[in-house]
Amino acid sequence: MFDRDPAGVRIELRGLTKHYPGQPAPAVDDVSLDIPAGELVVLVGPSGCGKTTTMKMINRLVEPTSGEIRIGGENVLDLHPDELRRHIGYAIQQVGLFPHLTVGENVALVPKLLGWPAARVAARVEELLSLVNLEPGVFRDRYPRQLSGGQQQRVGVARALAADPPVMLMDEPFGATDPITREHLQNEFAKLQKTLRKTIIFVTHDFEEAIRLGDRIAVLRERSHIAQYDTPANILAAPADDYVAGFIGQDATLKRLALVTVDEVEPSGPVPAGNGLPRVAAGATLREALDVMVAHGSDRCATPSGVLTYAALCEAVGSDGARPARPEEVTAGDR
Ligand code: ADP
Ligand code: MG
Repeated sequence: MFDRDPAGVRIELRGLTKHYPGQPAPAVDDVSLDIPAGELVVLVGPSGCGKTTTMKMINRLVEPTSGEIRIGGENVLDLHPDELRRHIGYAIQQVGLFPHLTVGENVALVPKLLGWPAARVAARVEELLSLVNLEPGVFRDRYPRQLSGGQQQRVGVARALAADPPVMLMDEPFGATDPITREHLQNEFAKLQKTLRKTIIFVTHDFEEAIRLGDRIAVLRERSHIAQYDTPANILAAPADDYVAGFIGQDATLKRLALVTVDEVEPSGPVPAGNGLPRVAAGATLREALDVMVAHGSDRCATPSGVLTYAALCEAVGSDGARPARPEEVTAGDR
C-alpha cells in the first residue's frame, strides 16, 4: 500500500463528483486537484459547499458517484475501504473519541489493528501524548469525558497520527475550541508539520486558519468548485476574483506581513550600540514588527540580525510592483 513512505505521498483528485440520492444537485461536482507529497493543503469555503463530502470520498466514508482518487499513484477505489482507512489519519471536529476507552486506548486503536507489538504501541502512545502536550502520566488513563474540549481535540490529533500514516485528513479539527486554545493548537500543529512533512488535507471555513497552516489553499465555491488554488502569499497578493477577495477581507496586506518573519528580510545594518530601538525576537512576523514600530512611534526596530526599517518591511510584501510609495518618493514627485 501507499504507506511505504511515511513522509507523505501525492494525492490526485480527478473529476470527483458526489451526487447524494434524492438531491437536486451534486454536493461535489467535477473536482480536480493535485496535492503534492508532503504538503498541507487547506480547503476553505462556506458551510455546505462540499468540503466534508470531498474529504470523506478520499477515505471512502462516502463513495464517489464518479471520478478518480489516486494516493501515491494507487487508485483508492481499488483498495479495501477498512484497509485504506488504517493508512489515512482522520481527525474531525466532533473528535469521535470512544467514550468507554481511555485516552491511551483511543490513541492505540489503529496501531493495534495493524498488529503492532504491545511494547511498540505503548511507546507510541507515550510519544504522541507528549507531542500534543498532554503529560502521559496524567492523561493516559483518563476517559474522554474527564478532558476539556481542547484536550479531547489534541487526543483526536494524536490518534490520527498514531500509526504514522503518510496521509492525514483533518476536517475542522480545532473547530470546537475557544480562540486562544485554537491559536495554540494551530501553532503547535504548524511546528509539528514542519518536521513530519506528511501530505495533509485540512478543511476549515476560517480563512485566518487557512493562511496560518496551509502550504497551499484551495478556496472553494458551492459544490466544491475551486475558485483559486495557490500559496497563501499569492492568493493574498492577487485574489482571482471578488469571491476570493471577499474571503480575504479588508486587511490583505497585514495578512501578508504575517506570513513573513523578520529573519527572512535582509537587515539594513547592525543595531547601533546604546540604541533605544524597540526589539522583536527571532521568528517574529513582519506584522509583529510593524505592531512594535507603531506602538513606539518608530520607523525601525531591532531584530536579532540587525535593523529592520519600515521601508524594508513594505518592500518585503511589495516585491511584485504593488509596493506603496514611500513618503520621500511622494514628496520628490510633488516638488
Ligand atoms: P461542508 O463540509 O462544506 O459544510 P458538506 O460536504 O457537509 O459541506 O455538504 C455539502 C452538501 O451536501 C450540503 O448541501 C449538504 O446538505 C449535503 N449533504 C451532506 N451529506 C449528505 C447526505 N448524507 N445526504 C444528502 N445530502 C448530504
Ligand atoms: Mg463539513
